[in-house]
Amino acid sequence: MRIGIIGSGGSGMSAAWLLDKNHDVTLFEKRNYLGGHTHSVEVILNGKNHIIDDGAAWFSPSIYPYFNAYLDIVGVEFDWIPLSLTYYNQSKQQVNCMPPVTARNILAMFTSRTTLPELLALNKAVNAAKTIVANKQTSVDFKTFIDGLSVSEKIKENFLKPLLSGLWGAPYDETNTFSIYPLMKYIVYHKPSGLQYYNWKTMKGGTKNYIATVHKNLKKTTTILNAEVQKIEFNKENNTVQVFTKDNTYSFDKLIITGGARDSAMLLKNSIDYNQAFEILNQFKCYKATLATHSDVSLMPPDRKDWSVVNVTFNGVDSYATIWHGSKNNEDIFCSYINPDNGLPKNLHHTSEWWLPCETPEFYQLQNQLATVQGINNVYLGGDYTHDIGSHEDAILSSVNAVEKIAPDSERLIELKKAAALYKG
Ligand SMILES: Cc1cc2nc3c(=O)[nH]c(=O)nc-3n(C[C@H](O)[C@H](O)[C@H](O)COP(=O)(O)OP(=O)(O)OC[C@H]3O[C@@H](n4cnc5c(N)ncnc54)[C@H](O)[C@@H]3O)c2cc1C
Repeated sequence: MRIGIIGSGGSGMSAAWLLDKNHDVTLFEKRNYLGGHTHSVEVILNGKNHIIDDGAAWFSPSIYPYFNAYLDIVGVEFDWIPLSLTYYNQSKQQVNCMPPVTARNILAMFTSRTTLPELLALNKAVNAAKTIVANKQTSVDFKTFIDGLSVSEKIKENFLKPLLSGLWGAPYDETNTFSIYPLMKYIVYHKPSGLQYYNWKTMKGGTKNYIATVHKNLKKTTTILNAEVQKIEFNKENNTVQVFTKDNTYSFDKLIITGGARDSAMLLKNSIDYNQAFEILNQFKCYKATLATHSDVSLMPPDRKDWSVVNVTFNGVDSYATIWHGSKNNEDIFCSYINPDNGLPKNLHHTSEWWLPCETPEFYQLQNQLATVQGINNVYLGGDYTHDIGSHEDAILSSVNAVEKIAPDSERLIELKKAAALYKG
């Protein structure tokens, strides 16, 4: 079978890998690199080379069964990172380091006015969210959830809302409209038991190493960079999909589009044979996240002793996270979600812009509607946004779902499903 794939992010690459052994695959990527939202920036600091992931970076041993199994099979090595978190309320000059593991942070629970009440409030929120997460109740928005919590208004406004918004990277003024489900899923599943950090995984050599390793495993797939697909058409006579780039036209038996909600809507806008899918995609509301890789310590909490791997700063208007990529060796290298209208960090190394869907209750309704257009005129929609909260696990699962429909006998699909079942326990 001739199969086309649009997009080289985690979804597109895994779809190619799943099909590669048994089919003739062509993958189109509009950018000049493979990986999409898995993107590594190389920075030389004090003569040392650092590889910083400014897109997808972390995954956990618990809720990523397909992704963990896939990495094992492909042969990608990972590192562990203890996920410490600091919340810094800039206008009130208050910090809260979580979980309270070090002697300094445990002491803060008794000496600071805000630390313990905030920790108890977060615990209440996690407990209240457990059923919502377990039952995937995507219709409950942030405001409804937070209004129903028996926690003081001060703590809601000065702590819970900015913390949860900053952790997700949501636009602060739209946080109330987001479903509470994605905002709490990671926290519910990864809340450490006892006074210790939850350990997450990152890729050795950055996510670019992961994508390069998958690429090396592709034997029959042609990958074409700088190849934006401009439109597609269904050829009724021979039941194929025509794919048009600036320079060429291609013909496939099946096509998987993994371009992200926004780009996929733009692609299908001019494709009359795929109007139903376009109508759904066009309703996804997206926001632009700007990530800056920098060495500007002023974006971190004022006392270095309070720095964590993840640092959420609330300035009274916006809440944003800064990841301390130099935490292992105490180096000043960071990646921050920024609002470029407020200026750029000093000692800037790189900025990236990513479009992400606003994960509101409507987002989840649209996600369900997408299932009704899968396979129409031989086109399948994959990508993180088509599945659950849009994690890398969801990106891989979206490809598993598409390949299951297109070529259920693919050897690698069968192998991956077996291996993932072991991770699920
Ligand atoms: C800043 C940030 C941090 C994140 N952190 C994490 C994390 O730590 N852990 C986690 O699990 N998830 C994380 N995510 C979620 C992440 O988006 C997914 O994990 C996953 O990487 C998305 O993969 P994808 O293939 O679905 O989409 P993308 O990676 O967006 O890939 C889509 C690709 O399609 C290409 N494309 C689009 N239109 C066309 C066209 N017309 N023609 C050709 N090519 C096209 C794009 O250029 C792009 O390369 C993060 C996301 C962001 C933005």
